[in-house]
Amino acid sequence: MSFTVAIDGPAAAGKGTISRAVAAEFGFAHLDTGLLYRAVGAKGGDPVAAARGLTAEDLSRGDLRSLAAGQAASRVAVIPEVRAALTDFQRRFARAEGGAVLDGRDIGTVICPEAEVKLYVTASAEVRAHRRWLEVGGDAAQVLAEVRERDARDMGRAEAPLRPAADAVVIDTSTMGVAEAVQAAISLIRQRLPRN
Ligand code: C5P
Repeated sequence: MSFTVAIDGPAAAGKGTISRAVAAEFGFAHLDTGLLYRAVGAKGGDPVAAARGLTAEDLSRGDLRSLAAGQAASRVAVIPEVRAALTDFQRRFARAEGGAVLDGRDIGTVICPEAEVKLYVTASAEVRAHRRWLEVGGDAAQVLAEVRERDARDMGRAEAPLRPAADAVVIDTSTMGVAEAVQAAISLIRQRLPRN
């Protein structure tokens, strides 16, 4: 059986937490697609060549979660050839036997428009910046500015901009606790799973 859960949304909205919980609950494989773009950005040199030759080693670098790696990722993510080089891998992952959860920016709109479940997880920029700041520390105003800058680049790009798919269910985590958001996602998926 293939069954795809597509989870899109802006940085620090809670996509990763929800994706991991859903994957654990249903025994699905999980792919954090942001990591692919982070690895391409961190590799330096020609981003198209980096995307075409991405290795498991590139994906296991220790510095991929930093704010700088996030900014570098969103800069290479506007390049159509970079996105194209990463598409097949993501599509194969999405349709693999046993079910898959992919989180990113364009999973429900471009990578897997036929996903059985599409979620768009969001929260206000202030709430997301505060969460990031709790993780990384530093100057709070600077963290908010970086969140806004990344949102603007991800939503404003010509290729695969961040937006909810027409049939996505929106989960706003601005005021919702993590446990509540996870439960909302799990009950929606349970309703859509084929009955046997
Ligand atoms: O989700 P994460 O913060 O790790 O993503 C880093 C950046 O990679 C995003 O800001 C976005 O520019 C890019 N990205 C993308 N498409 C995806 C996942 C991430 O363009 N499916």
